[in-house]
Amino acid sequence: MTSAYGRWLTPTSAWRLAQCAASAGYSSGPLPPRRQRLTTAGEAAHAAMKRWIESGDWFAPTPRLQEHYDIVCDANGLQVEALANGRLTRARLGAREVDLASLLTRVGDRPEADCEKPLVDPEKELWGVPDIVVRGGQTAVVDLKTGGDVTRPLPDQLSRQLLIYAHLVRTHDGEPPSLVAIFSLAHGVIELEASARAIEELLDRIAAARSLPGMATPRADACRFCAQRRRCEPHWNAAANGELPDAVEGAVVRTEVAESGSMAVQLETPTGRVWLTRLRPTMLAGQVAPGCWLRAVRLMAPSTEPPTWRAAPETMAWPAPLANQH
Ligand code: SF4
Repeated sequence: MTSAYGRWLTPTSAWRLAQCAASAGYSSGPLPPRRQRLTTAGEAAHAAMKRWIESGDWFAPTPRLQEHYDIVCDANGLQVEALANGRLTRARLGAREVDLASLLTRVGDRPEADCEKPLVDPEKELWGVPDIVVRGGQTAVVDLKTGGDVTRPLPDQLSRQLLIYAHLVRTHDGEPPSLVAIFSLAHGVIELEASARAIEELLDRIAAARSLPGMATPRADACRFCAQRRRCEPHWNAAANGELPDAVEGAVVRTEVAESGSMAVQLETPTGRVWLTRLRPTMLAGQVAPGCWLRAVRLMAPSTEPPTWRAAPETMAWPAPLANQH
């Protein structure tokens, strides 16, 4: 069947499409899983949960999830004590194990679980990889969240992600899942009512967004982790108008390097001179020196007196020669 929808989208790229059509990351089809070394406590927790389920330990009478976490960390050269939130994540896995096991066994007798198995809808060119789909007499789709950024009610992005997973399960199984939920290590189970109507409305919105021209529409939440920030001029125009709280650009006037190695940079911007502080070498995609042009994103909101921007751990900054601004 010829698709009326164009290119392939994941739940994340479908959300991006709705926020800013120019930022949607289409792919030519479902991509194979990336095998990479784990570096964060959240990644290790996901891998531990997968191991716990695939080993059948979710039926075990004694807790095992922390043990799987330790094994995963060890295999990836991660020290739990040295890892950001490493011990907290381990403690939460231990505290939540019983709740997660009882959530998964809610679907009926002899449940079977798939972990991180891609699901596709070739007609609508949607695909996604839910953390867990468990099938017994009924079916549940569950996504694990390890950070504290999950709220009740669920943020719009997470609700849409779950609705797309529910649709993909329905496409695959021919039946919708009876339970759709986030399992948050910080907050426990957060269920979403994934009605057929809510799913159809979302699919219609995605189809409509696909048919529109891919115009850039800067918005703080969409731009923050967009891969196109460096060269997206509508975004830089919005930043210059004060519409984005985490981006600044300007000509470098002077630099100061502290003993700790962090750098402060004074910038000449269209609205005057500002300081950008706490820049670490790992955030910089090149040498910063007076005379170059610097763009920086994912900053903390600026203070006004004196005008100062501060880098955050996720900040990225791109210097360029003045004559060749980005
Ligand atoms: S940087 Fe912002 S405006 Fe530009 S494409 Fe990305 S989300 Fe859209």
